[in-house]
Amino acid sequence: MPPSSLRSARFLRRVALPTLVGIGALGGLVGMLLAWAGHEADEIAVSRQVALANVVIGNLRDTIAHNQESVTVWDDAVRAVRQDGAAEWIDYNLGSWMHTYFGHDGAYVLDAADEPIYQFSTGMTEEPYRDVQVVAAPLVGTLRQLLREGDETGISDRILSQGAADLTTVGGRPAVVSAKPIVSDTGEIEQTPGTEYVHIAVRYLDGDFLELLGRDYMFDDLRFEGEEEATDAAAKLPLLSDSGETVGHLVWHPYRPGAAVVDKVAPVAAAVAGLVFLLIIGLLFMLNLRSRKLLEREARMKHLAHHDPLTELPNRALFHERLDEALRTRPVDSLVGVLYLDLDHFKQVNDTLGHPAGDAVINEFATRLIGLIRLSDTLARLGGDEFTIVIPDLKSMEDVEALSSRIIDTVRQPFDVDGHQVFIGVTVGIAIAPDDGDTRTELCRKADIALYHAKSSGRSRYAIFGSEMDSMLRARRDIERDLRRALRGGDQLAVHYQPLFSAATQKIIGVEALLRWLHPTNGWISPEVFIPIAEDTGMIEAIGEFVLRDSCEAARRWPTLSVAVNVSAIELRNPAFATKVAARLLEAGVDPRRLELELTESALTDPNGVCDQNVKALRALGVRIALDDFGTGFSSLGRLQKLEVDRIKIDRSFIHGFGKANGDEAIVLAIVEMARARGLKTTAEGVETPEQSGHLTQIGCDDLQGFLYSRPVPADEVTALLKRSTTRQLSA
Ligand code: C2E
Ligand code: MG
Ligand code: MG
Repeated sequence: MPPSSLRSARFLRRVALPTLVGIGALGGLVGMLLAWAGHEADEIAVSRQVALANVVIGNLRDTIAHNQESVTVWDDAVRAVRQDGAAEWIDYNLGSWMHTYFGHDGAYVLDAADEPIYQFSTGMTEEPYRDVQVVAAPLVGTLRQLLREGDETGISDRILSQGAADLTTVGGRPAVVSAKPIVSDTGEIEQTPGTEYVHIAVRYLDGDFLELLGRDYMFDDLRFEGEEEATDAAAKLPLLSDSGETVGHLVWHPYRPGAAVVDKVAPVAAAVAGLVFLLIIGLLFMLNLRSRKLLEREARMKHLAHHDPLTELPNRALFHERLDEALRTRPVDSLVGVLYLDLDHFKQVNDTLGHPAGDAVINEFATRLIGLIRLSDTLARLGGDEFTIVIPDLKSMEDVEALSSRIIDTVRQPFDVDGHQVFIGVTVGIAIAPDDGDTRTELCRKADIALYHAKSSGRSRYAIFGSEMDSMLRARRDIERDLRRALRGGDQLAVHYQPLFSAATQKIIGVEALLRWLHPTNGWISPEVFIPIAEDTGMIEAIGEFVLRDSCEAARRWPTLSVAVNVSAIELRNPAFATKVAARLLEAGVDPRRLELELTESALTDPNGVCDQNVKALRALGVRIALDDFGTGFSSLGRLQKLEVDRIKIDRSFIHGFGKANGDEAIVLAIVEMARARGLKTTAEGVETPEQSGHLTQIGCDDLQGFLYSRPVPADEVTALLKRSTTRQLSA
């Protein structure tokens, strides 16, 4: 799985899923709470409705009895029931009136012997009293008993007479049956207690009563269910007779406010929950996106922190990590190799072809190297043209030597940069763990020393660290320390002068100032040794100053000679250099035209143009510029066309090559002719034999310098030499 989908899966597992489950659980809980609250509200509402129905049914008996009293406590009624022929009156007042006015379903009048003298029943025509009698008889009995006993309990302003009533079934239908005596309202008509005519009222509970009840009290779908047909209706009120017998049940669809609220709230809640859910999903999605971007940025930053932006190779930090890791995990029987690599002449590529070309070379170099190393090796770029390779689990020294040779061979192949064939080389310094140490610092230091050693013994080669190199480095540090001391004063440093002769006249025409150092314990130290150290350690400017001052002094002393002074590239890169030289000349009162500055080609290829400006300013003053050691290093005849110089000094290696098979004469001839064509003077360095001198004179080289004529000597000897030659001239 790619890392991004792995991260997504992890995010889903660790964040999204638990969040969604949590939200779902919360939603479920809220839903359950809502349902529970609704249910509770419904329970309460149902029990209230049942209670209400109970009260209504309970009151019904009193109401019916009360209704009856509007006709039963009435003198006219007492009289009417006792006389014949009042049937119409009875029917109107004690029967149909009760029906139309109070909704009673049945009305009966019983005489003292409990015989019905009047029967009225809605929908019942044939002997309706028979059905009623079953339940009415005990009630009537009870009533007559009360009347006989003269029991006044319950008699009040509202209840005017005794009565007996019950909730029961009449003809299989639930009904309230109420018996009331027909008595005098004025008390004028005397009756023997217990012999009163009795009025019986019947109100069925399953007919229109239910309709009215349902409408008045809003009982939905209110109906009666007999005991045997009892269902599990949600709201149910058992109807009990006084004897405790269940008559049946009133059932209805209860009003459920909770369910109503839930019904109303649920869709809204569901919508809100859905919205919240979507919102959370959206948020989670964004969170995932953000955290992914963050992780990517973090990874990028980490990559940047550990890689070189140009080549994408590991940088110094990662190189350190990898080397530490290789050392930590090194098996006992294997080695770890550390290679330091440095490109030869890379600076010239950068300076002459520009930085993009330099970058292209670096990239190409990296690509070539990657092709040579194993996957487990680490190639890193430390900066500029410095690279390293860590080889973990190295089996033998031969392996690392073979790799180094392959690297050197590969890099020797020309690099193609914008159509230019560029030749560079690489020098390799090698240190091996555990032989050369088992810490990173120690190995790096030693690989660096080996590299330095390889470079100073001629580039494009490799060197494996040896203990002698360490002492060389120590010697170098000693030189640095002693040179600093020598520069502070004393007579260790002295400028010697080597005369230059005209080829044509064989006469001395000038001198080259060459610095000499007589070390108190080590004797003479060659400038080839200490000048590079002075350049590396920032002492070269002080040295240049010292030589220039002495040379100006010498020039004053020998007014007929030109004086050549060697200038390091580092001095020339100082923007104040030309001014300093001019000031020194002015101070000494020396004609600038008598001073010649010797530069090497690398000094003239400064990309910042400071060297160019110095050269231009100096030439404008009249100071002449010589190109020293021409033919070595990064130089070509083609480039000679462009350089702003007055003289070419042909390197002594060519002169020493005279008479050998490879024919350096041809090169020297070409240089001399090219220089002449451009109007430049030529000097041959290192002339040691009359043959060399003769050949150079013959091909038209202007001036000659070498041990054949004179070694570099102290100024006094030059004066003596001059004197001698003048004397010779005079005597001739
Ligand atoms: P260079 O400028 O090419 O100086 C000429 C070198 O050739 C001198 O070496 C000189 O002694 C040597 N030489 C002259 N004639 C012959 C000969 O016939 N045969 C051989 N084999 N060698 C000959 P030296 O004095 O050892 O200087 C070496 C280099 O050190 C100089 O090379 C120059 O680049 C540098 N150098 C010397 N003095 C100074 C200085 O004051 N400033 C700077 N920047 N560089 C200096
Ligand atoms: Mg020189
Ligand atoms: Mg030279």
